[in-house]
Amino acid sequence: MVSQTGARLVAEQLEELHARHGTRGDDRIVSFYPPEAAADRHLFAIAGTNVDGTRWGVGDCEVRFPLQSISKVFTFGLALEDNGREATLARVGVEPSGEPFNSITFDEAHHRPHNPMINTGALVAANLVHGVDRHDKITRLLERLRTYSGNPDLAVDQDVLAAELTSNDRNLGLCYIMRSLGMITGEIGDTLAVYLAMCSVTVTASELSVMGATLAHGGINPLTGQRALTRRYVRDVVSVMNTCGMYDAAGQWATDVGIPAKSGVSGGLVATIVNHLGLGMFSPGLDVHGHSVRAVNVCRELSERFGLHIFADPGESSLGGVPTADTPPARPDRTREVLPAAEAEHAEHHEGRA
Ligand code: GLN
Repeated sequence: MVSQTGARLVAEQLEELHARHGTRGDDRIVSFYPPEAAADRHLFAIAGTNVDGTRWGVGDCEVRFPLQSISKVFTFGLALEDNGREATLARVGVEPSGEPFNSITFDEAHHRPHNPMINTGALVAANLVHGVDRHDKITRLLERLRTYSGNPDLAVDQDVLAAELTSNDRNLGLCYIMRSLGMITGEIGDTLAVYLAMCSVTVTASELSVMGATLAHGGINPLTGQRALTRRYVRDVVSVMNTCGMYDAAGQWATDVGIPAKSGVSGGLVATIVNHLGLGMFSPGLDVHGHSVRAVNVCRELSERFGLHIFADPGESSLGGVPTADTPPARPDRTREVLPAAEAEHAEHHEGRA
């Protein structure tokens, strides 16, 4: 388990970040989605779940909000499982597009959307998920989301779905273009229904942190012990979160924050720190890219403080690295067995860097 001191340190940090970012003026908040969400601008949740089951939560962690584009992560996972890596990646790439989430651009050389984290790629992933009809596909995806979150009651919010369906011209257009190019097959209404139903599933920040922790834990929900994703696809999913999860801000994010993450225009954000923890955040004010302003800022500070950047040097983090467990490392340290003495000494000197 995470030591009590470590857990308390994280709790104190989250409380401080929540208090400070929650009272910031709205000058950096660009928009709200939908505009009515402005009334909920005060809502702000930061939740964390460690792979050992330790949990943290500050603020409005039990308020429900739609997954929106965060669902793309989990739809891609099931598409991989249903079709295998090769067949899936033949239909949707893994290259950052450098474009907004709803852009009409394609990887023309390979005749596919750039990646599954933008709308075109997510629509293809929805198209790839197996099922006899749209209801079957939605049911299968919903079951997975329930396993990831540990909440057996997770459901599509029908009001959100109805609203999505009335302002859906852009996604409709994307589908028609893709079908004309042979990138998707079948009834466009079916593909859209699956994609939008997943966008309309509501979660809490607490649940979202468990979903992130499930990915961090090799696909197994750390609270229930149930597998949500086949082990060999976890790396694929987390990799595209890392490179493409933040759309046209993905490169900046990978450099500054360095945590695989995915945002949604509802103001939610899920982050996965592999082998350590999942974060779930929620605050409705959005920046120009469609990311929650507060969630982005909190992630940036958390990354710095705890050295969460995937290429972080623990020496650089102000709090001395991720407050992990008292448990032994997941992989046995074989350094001394395989390296000559001088190198082993060097490795010892740099202990904890990997
Ligand atoms: N439902 C939204 C759409 O398809 C989701 C977008 C998002 O969260 N970035 O446009």
